[in-house]
Amino acid sequence: MTLPARSPRKSRPAIELVVVSSTRLSPHLVRVTLGGDGFAQFEDRPETDKYAKLQFTTPEPEPRTVTRTYTIRSVDHEAKTLDIDFVVHGDEGLAGPWAARVAPGAPLSIFGPGGGYVPDPDAAWYLFAGDLSAVPAIAASLEALPESATGVVLIEVESDAAILDLVAPAGIDVRWIVDPAHTPERLADEVRALEWKPGHVDVFAHGERESMKLLRRALFDERGLERSQVSLSGYWARGRTEDRFQAEKREPIGQIFPA
Ligand SMILES: Cc1cc2nc3c(=O)[nH]c(=O)nc-3n(C[C@H](O)[C@H](O)[C@H](O)COP(=O)(O)OP(=O)(O)OC[C@H]3O[C@@H](n4cnc5c(N)ncnc54)[C@H](O)[C@@H]3O)c2cc1C
Repeated sequence: MTLPARSPRKSRPAIELVVVSSTRLSPHLVRVTLGGDGFAQFEDRPETDKYAKLQFTTPEPEPRTVTRTYTIRSVDHEAKTLDIDFVVHGDEGLAGPWAARVAPGAPLSIFGPGGGYVPDPDAAWYLFAGDLSAVPAIAASLEALPESATGVVLIEVESDAAILDLVAPAGIDVRWIVDPAHTPERLADEVRALEWKPGHVDVFAHGERESMKLLRRALFDERGLERSQVSLSGYWARGRTEDRFQAEKREPIGQIFPA
């Protein structure tokens, strides 16, 4: 169920957190647990795709602060910590390489959270689709579903090593699609090949931008779904830093839904 998009309010002060621990969930995903005194300023929210704007500093010679957007995978109010799962995607970029190497005690400043989706309690079934960057939001959403929920999860990954054991109701069919070539059409083709269940479907689809554009066609142009029943957006774009990806949202290439 798509909710009115609520962005993190930058008017609120940044929340200053500290790395408590980091855990490799797979060669491709690392969980960073954050806490510290700043946690008291973190105002949790109900959306299962809630996200924060993380602040990083570019390397010398001209250091500047840049923002990277990440899902809050889970919040532990007793321990006063929150988890963020980072895709480890090589040496390029700031957030991925930072998470791959970070040690306890490192500081991290965040704004947020914002959020846009909670599973529709009235849906007849659920469809989740995305790549590894959407796994934190998909996993949090699956954990929020009623035990009786039914549906399908399609997650595109580059190798078997990326496959995780997700907690989901028994009626949810979790399918990992291993595609080392990252074919942009792959998720859309998997959706086309689905045995479409009757009744109102609630869709959450996020990931690489070009792959999301192709999904838009499959979901809206071919399946005739309504905007209100689909949460669809790009989380990143191949060959673009997040700065470029965000800037391109104002250009035709950056728009999932053509103007
Ligand atoms: C609302 C929202 C929630 C998100 N949640 C998460 C999350 O929970 N976990 C997560 O890992 N990502 C998440 N992302 C995506 C994340 O913001 C981007 O992947 C971001 O570009 C990573 O920053 P970076 O500094 O590592 O790389 P950048 O400096 O932004 O990019 C450097 C290079 O790496 C490539 N790249 C970036 N991301 C990936 C990737 N996932 N796989 C392969 N290549 C990549 C870029 O195309 C570019 O060529 C989310 C994005 C949004 C908008």
